[in-house]
Amino acid sequence: MHPEHHKPLFALSLFLSLILCVSSSHASNAAALKSQIRRFAPTTLTADTSRLSRGDQAALKKLIEASRIMDSIYLRQVWDGNVALLHRLERDKTRLGQLRLQYFLINMGPWSRLDHNAPFISGVPKRPEEANYYPPDMTKEEFTRWVATLTEDEQEKARGFFTTIRRDNDRHLMIVPYSTEYKELLEPAAQLLQEAASLTENASLKNYLTQRAKAFFSNNYYESDIAWMDLDSPLDVTIGPYEVYMDELFNYKAAFEAFITLRNDEETQKLENFSSYLQEIEDNLPIDPKYRNPKLGASAPIRVVDELYAGGEATPGVKTAAFNLPNDERITREKGSKRVMLKNVQEAKFNTILKPIAKVVVDPRQQSLIAFEPFFTHILAHELMHGLGPHTLTLNGRETTVRQEMKEIGSALEEAKADISSLFALQYLMDKGYIDKEKERQLYVTYLASMFRTVRFGLNDAHGKGMVLQFNYLVDKDGIVFDKSRRSYMVDFEKIKPAVRQLTGEIMTIQAEGNYDRAKTLLKRYSALPAEMQSLLKKLTTIPVDIQPMFPLAH
Ligand code: ZN
Repeated sequence: MHPEHHKPLFALSLFLSLILCVSSSHASNAAALKSQIRRFAPTTLTADTSRLSRGDQAALKKLIEASRIMDSIYLRQVWDGNVALLHRLERDKTRLGQLRLQYFLINMGPWSRLDHNAPFISGVPKRPEEANYYPPDMTKEEFTRWVATLTEDEQEKARGFFTTIRRDNDRHLMIVPYSTEYKELLEPAAQLLQEAASLTENASLKNYLTQRAKAFFSNNYYESDIAWMDLDSPLDVTIGPYEVYMDELFNYKAAFEAFITLRNDEETQKLENFSSYLQEIEDNLPIDPKYRNPKLGASAPIRVVDELYAGGEATPGVKTAAFNLPNDERITREKGSKRVMLKNVQEAKFNTILKPIAKVVVDPRQQSLIAFEPFFTHILAHELMHGLGPHTLTLNGRETTVRQEMKEIGSALEEAKADISSLFALQYLMDKGYIDKEKERQLYVTYLASMFRTVRFGLNDAHGKGMVLQFNYLVDKDGIVFDKSRRSYMVDFEKIKPAVRQLTGEIMTIQAEGNYDRAKTLLKRYSALPAEMQSLLKKLTTIPVDIQPMFPLAH
């Protein structure tokens, strides 16, 4: 639907699909499916729940049940044929049928996320950009024309997080709240949340679960998002409609997901120290001072947790290692946002994937610099940096947000911003002596290896698109250099620093100006994978692309 944006990326992703040993025409046979499935290394994810109170242990069971309902809602959100197809796959007891089912569950749909969403089940359509949020035959233009005819209040709902757009009997577009659209699933989910609320002794968890259960009925998520911001509990829970990536038309509509986790107090404390420098970093961002935020939202909490169960959008494809919520600007303006780091997920990924990748792509002279701590620190910084830089704008007297102005490329640009500005921020803290400068080289080299890890996820993902932009930019500025004789990349520690600073400034300035055209030009200019990177990616085919979690507590 936006060929000018997807065309260059499509060719690359097609190439990636080939080097990952999969082509859609052969994917229907068992061997191809097996090789697609093998890219996800089965990994047990759990944590010691014995320290939880008896009430919390009982609540945990209810919350895992509620998370399974998020799976069901999410399946419906992906595509209107998704649930019927799943039931058909479940009835097929052949070996091939079981492989199809297994890969369907990994992707939560019939499109392989690592292969530019190529279908792996014959007869299914192309993955809809509108997901199941809008009518399949609706164009962006029709939506925009229709929204202009609505009252201000209705316009907000039409573009809001928690509504779908359907056609009425006269084929006119209409707004349906999630509370109506998913009523038969949200009601039992709300029931389970209420039961969990009555079991836990923790007041803030009780409050969040109670408010969220109400929101499932009222479709008003404001109070429960506020309650989530104040949540401070050994059992840390995130459940409901959150991320907007799957709405590839507008990035407006939120997908249901759940993270049921156990708080890691020691790590959380470490990270809180770090966040005390955020205002100073904002005040020194490499942008026009008028674009800096003189007063960041105060006391935004950070949690480091271990994942016990994930549901809905948290399950398919590449697994979330950290997130930053809520997305609702009303709440981020008032209370900032909360970051949740899934430490056991990150460790599993580092050991299973990043270490073997580094052996292939990083110059042997720099391989000893690969380390978990800077990997973890960068992911932390990424989440923190989402909260810095421009968010709300006034353009020609009109109040708006970066998210609204950047539309469907907003996510890719925002992910690139969080990544690259994290390197900027960590360098700043090291230069000031706030954190250990000895880790400087480890940071950049580990980041280099992690860029390959992200690009392997596929370029249809916001993180993948954002990472290709960064990689090409850093190569363009000689911050990352390919060594022809060793057939591997290395970091130029002097040149990478100004390049990081420059790209941080470029992206944040685009966001501050709400300049959609300049954003498109930037993404397009740096969208092609270098040939050297492509040939190295070919050598990574036997390394898993991601983990496939198994949750023992769910059985
Ligand atoms: Zn991010």
